[in-house]
Amino acid sequence: MKALLLKKYMELELTELPQPELGSTDVLVRVRACGICGSDVHGLDGSTGRRIPPLVMGHEAAGVIAETGRDVRGWKSGDRVTFDSTVSCGQCHFCRRGEINLCDNRQVLGVSCGDYRRHGAFAEYVAVPANILYRLPESLAFDDAAMIEAVSIAVHAVNLTPRSLGDTAVVVGSGMIGQLTIQAAQAAGFGRVFAVDIDDAKLEMARKMGAAESFNSKHVDVAAEIAARTGGRGADAALEAVGATDPIRTAIACVRKGGTVTLIGNITPKIELPLQQVVTRQIRLQGSCASSGEYPACIELLSSGAIRVDTMISARTPLDEAANWFDRLYRHEPNLMKVIVQP
Ligand SMILES: [Zn+2]
Ligand SMILES: [Zn+2]
Repeated sequence: MKALLLKKYMELELTELPQPELGSTDVLVRVRACGICGSDVHGLDGSTGRRIPPLVMGHEAAGVIAETGRDVRGWKSGDRVTFDSTVSCGQCHFCRRGEINLCDNRQVLGVSCGDYRRHGAFAEYVAVPANILYRLPESLAFDDAAMIEAVSIAVHAVNLTPRSLGDTAVVVGSGMIGQLTIQAAQAAGFGRVFAVDIDDAKLEMARKMGAAESFNSKHVDVAAEIAARTGGRGADAALEAVGATDPIRTAIACVRKGGTVTLIGNITPKIELPLQQVVTRQIRLQGSCASSGEYPACIELLSSGAIRVDTMISARTPLDEAANWFDRLYRHEPNLMKVIVQP
């Protein structure tokens, strides 16, 4: 089969690989769409330590079942599917509690980090265990379905955020996950959702996605603006989709006493925390990792149009031109959000 192989750091090569071998509980999926994730782009240069070559990356995918393992029940070739990016064991303490994102034996598709190597979906075929599959309705296009993994991250974060109908939320960071979080927060019953970023084009998009207002934190005191719109109290919740000191400080400063800051982004490993502000205002900091069981809800939200992803897809490319798109994403070409590879 054709596959896009990370042969060594900064070198992607379109190559022929043998089709993946199927375990008895695996299915072989003919990949029809696979999104290029920021973590794949960062993985290119080895800085994250999670894409050790040789590796086929790609974990945001959808396709059609081509073959099923001996012990697979309930699935057949021809079924349209997507799958979780997390491969969970189903056996450990956390899996048995339904917290599959916290699985002790968690692996991620298209990642190799020293502990394991699991080839992903930038290839004609990928093998995945049947327990992570989800059925796609006919009406949902493969390209949109490849966005479900990203949608699930936003939906999971909102699910972890305490709220009452009509509460006010601030989403800090208006990249793709931020845009999806704005939409998920509205679908979950938040009233006004405010968007924050340092890029005016992203803020404009956030308003199109339904943000009540948007603020450029380079130019205005965001906490003061939010206070002025919430009776001086601050928002009930903030969701942070960057993961660095400045935006996290902004998120903390924007919430009311007793409010929640849900932390989704993690581009930096450490931040400086305004501890006294958090303690004396009794603010809850809630980490959010991947998703656990939200895929069916995400399929529903996409099918109904409650969450829209079409405007976030910047380009579509066949496998043999995908390396160029990696390059453009790596060089931070402006106005590129999601690039979908169609192997
Ligand atoms: Zn991803
Ligand atoms: Zn487990």
